[in-house]
Parts: sequence; structure tokens; C-alpha cells
Amino acid sequence: MVSRNVVDTVDTMEAREVTKREIMESIAEQAFPDNDPMYLIDVGEVIRKHRVWKELLPKVEPFYAMKCNPDPVIMKMLASSLNTGFDCASREEMQLAIELGVSPDRIIYANPCKAPSHLRYAKSVGVDLMTFDNEDELCKIKQVYPNARLVLRVLTDDSYSVCRLGVKFGADPRRVFCLLQTAKEMDLDVVGISFHVGSGCYNSDAFLDALRVARAGFDAGAEMGFNFTLLDIGGGFPGTDDAVISFAEICSVLTDGFARYFPQEKFAHVRIIAEPGRYYVAASHSLAVNVFARRQIQGDSDSDLRLEREDSGVSGSSDIESGPNTANDTWHADRSDDENLTQSQAELAVKFMYYVNDSTYASFNSIINDHAIVVPQVLKKAEEPKSKHLSVLGSADDEQLYACSVWGPTCDGLDCINKEATLPRLAVGSWLRFDEMGAYTCAASSRFNGFQLAGKRYINTEVNTDALVDEVLTGLGLTPMEYVCDILTEGKVQAGAALCN
Ligand SMILES: *Cc1c(COP(=O)(O)O)cnc(C)c1O
Repeated sequence: MVSRNVVDTVDTMEAREVTKREIMESIAEQAFPDNDPMYLIDVGEVIRKHRVWKELLPKVEPFYAMKCNPDPVIMKMLASSLNTGFDCASREEMQLAIELGVSPDRIIYANPCKAPSHLRYAKSVGVDLMTFDNEDELCKIKQVYPNARLVLRVLTDDSYSVCRLGVKFGADPRRVFCLLQTAKEMDLDVVGISFHVGSGCYNSDAFLDALRVARAGFDAGAEMGFNFTLLDIGGGFPGTDDAVISFAEICSVLTDGFARYFPQEKFAHVRIIAEPGRYYVAASHSLAVNVFARRQIQGDSDSDLRLEREDSGVSGSSDIESGPNTANDTWHADRSDDENLTQSQAELAVKFMYYVNDSTYASFNSIINDHAIVVPQVLKKAEEPKSKHLSVLGSADDEQLYACSVWGPTCDGLDCINKEATLPRLAVGSWLRFDEMGAYTCAASSRFNGFQLAGKRYINTEVNTDALVDEVLTGLGLTPMEYVCDILTEGKVQAGAALCN
């Protein structure tokens, strides 16, 4: 289990949360006149993740899968002080890592299907470790980079993962022997086996089974006359505490699996690496978005659409799921039914549509591309405007929650962030906060429809950083708007203590 020195005390966690909240509130309050969406990035979260990794998987070297989030500050920290390797899949990713001073032997070109031009780039900079899973790739590599060190990516059972990768990559275990034979005949250097159980894996047995398949690959290699020295266990490790299987659970399955399929006596010479992406960054980003528009809806008279906090004992959030108007497209249709409602019935059926300034084309692309479920929290409530032309439905009471939906700013009807959420009544100008927004979010953001990408502010809530981390953070030349904060050891909070410039 995780030892004491990597586990947070409740006090520190609370202090950290207070710091974050204070800074996010100040982001919402004063800093930005245009109310642009803004990430608060806690690099301390990445540092802590790295520590837990070292603690639970000491034998496994992490190669950060940078496609997950190539944030320059996080990348710099991983490269220069945490000393991880990098999993790159394209010329540009390799270039980025190399520009950060990562030596080529700390990079794996982990794309089994590579464009020749990217492969030539890999050769030109000396990134010689790369994956493959088919004969065509072998021919290409033979032609472009014959002395590369190859890792055969095998197909493992990915049916327990939210994002299945087996449909696209991985050699069928039945073809492994044949592929290795071809590589041998071509005089190519195969050095090991890799797999990826899929992103968002929710069954730790998937890892155990993958190790079994990898071991079979090692045996086939030995039979073929190769001396495999590398096992690459891929990514798919959860980065948030609410994951179906915890990181600790996976680590314990892996530790057992290593002992069973790769016992030290026989495999002491084998270097084990992994390609974690979301694990490192998912929890590090919180996103603040501004409610720039609102639509009030007085639905039908079903009282179950009004939600109250559980402690009021009336109804819970499950009611909304069984309510009649939960599908998006029915929301507009009921508006004309309002006329005949009594005052109290009407009050009971109030719903809101909130429009915020980040979209499923930008930060929230994770909803579509990564099957993410995001949860809005109130960051800051704005005042209702005093206008006789605006009759505001419902109550301003914080305790009173309403069924609502949250939408992005684009003109696309699919740009919906939450189809069903429960929030208090929020005036235009209010702010919402979404946590755990670090994985597969800003990495694929686009400016579709002409909307700004979310800005970034950095914070460090980890006190026990070594000098190298401090040096990296201060050396990054963050503009004065960017905070680096510390939590004092007593758990007291000093928000915005050090401004970098
Ligand atoms: C995307 C990817 C990863 C990272 O996956 P996570 O689920 O984010 O850990 C690792 N390896 C390869 C080859 C990938 O394509």
C-alpha cells in the first residue's frame, strides 16, 4: 500500500482545496475583464502523482504519453526535474520533447503506424526505440531506419476500457510468431513487447491478461533467437480518485503479474516501462467558465422537475432522470404550455439553460473524444440585473437547486456540456468550475466558431518540492498574472504568495 510519506493528511488536502478555491474565485473576480475561460493548473498534483508512481511501481519507468496534454510547464517539469521518459507519436511531439532537452534515449516513438517523413525525423534525431504491429511497417522501417530498436505491440483484451484501442492497433497474438519471423528474416532488431489495455480501463484483470499475452510474446521471441530486454505496459492508468478501479489496485495486480509472468530469476535483465497519460495530468486542471447567457424555461407542471437538496428530504437528483423532459430536444417544445399553470405549479417546473464560454469543440472535447463526464460546480454567483423587463423565475436561494442544462458558446446544437445537471439559479455573469479537466482537454481544443481558447494559470500546492522543481517553476518566465502559491506547512493558506515574473 501507499506509505505514509506519499499520503496527504486531511489537513493538507483541505488547505490545498481552500487555496485552489480562493485563487479560482480571484480569477473569476477581478483578473479578466472579458471573462475568458481559464484553467487553474496545479503542478503540485503532477509532482504527487509522480511520487505515488515511484512508490507503487518502483520497477516501472514512466514515459509520459504527451498527447494527453502537452502543456509546456508540465512537460518542462516532467522533462527536467521529475526525469520521466516520453511517449511520442509524431514528428512534432518528438521535436517538442527534444527541444525541452529530453535525450533521445528517453523517448519511445510509440505509434505502430508511422509516416515515413516522421520516421526519417526520428532517425535524424536518434529516437531509435519504436513500436510496430504489422509487416508493412517492418518494410518501411527496414528502408528508412534499419537499425532502429523495435517493440512489437500486441493486441490484448481491451473490452474493459472506455476508449478501446484494439480496433486500430496491436498484432493479434496468433500472428506474433509470424511477425517475429519476418523481422528476423529482414535482420531487424526487435527488443521487446508492448501493449495498451485501452484508455479508461475499468477492470484490473485486463492488465493481468495483457502480461500473460506479453509473456507469450517473449517466449516466441526467444524461440526466434531474439533477446528481448524491454516490456512496455502502455497506458490506461486512472488519474482521478473516482475511477472504477484505483491506481493502487492496478499496481497490486501488476506486481502480482510481474511475479507470475516475469519472475526476477528469469527476467532480471528486462527493463519495464509504461506510457501513462491521464494518470499524470487528469487531476491537475480545474477550469473556470463564465455563464454569458441564460434561458429560463417554465416547463410542464411536473413538480418532480424541481429538485431540492437531499437534506430537505423531498427528493433527490434521481428524480430528474425519470422526469419526462430530460432529453435536450424536448426542452424547447414545452415552453408554450406555460399559460395555464398556477403560480406554484409554474414555480415547480422552472428549468434553466446556461450558456458558458468553453465548448465541446475546445476544452470539453473530452466529452466526445474521451467519453468524459464533467460535473459543474458553482464558482461565483453574479447579481441578477435590476430590470423591470426581466422577470426571473425561481428563487435566488443557494439551497434551491434546479434542473438545468449547460451549453457551449458555438452555434452547434450538439455543443452540450451537461444535458442534465442540478444547479442553483445563476444570473448571467456567474462562474462555473469543472475539476479534473487535465486529460484530453486543451490538447485537442479548437477555436471553432471563433471562440477564444481557455487561458492558463499555474499554481503549486506541493510544499515538499525539491530545488529542481522550484528552479523549473521560477525559470519558466511566467507572466505576472500567473500565480505560484504555497501552502505553509501548518496547513495555513497563503494564496498568491509568490507572483512569478
Ligand atoms: C494514448 C496512449 C497512451 C496514454 O493513454 P492513457 O489512457 O492516457 O494513459 C499510452 N500509450 C499509447 C500508445 C497511447 O496511444
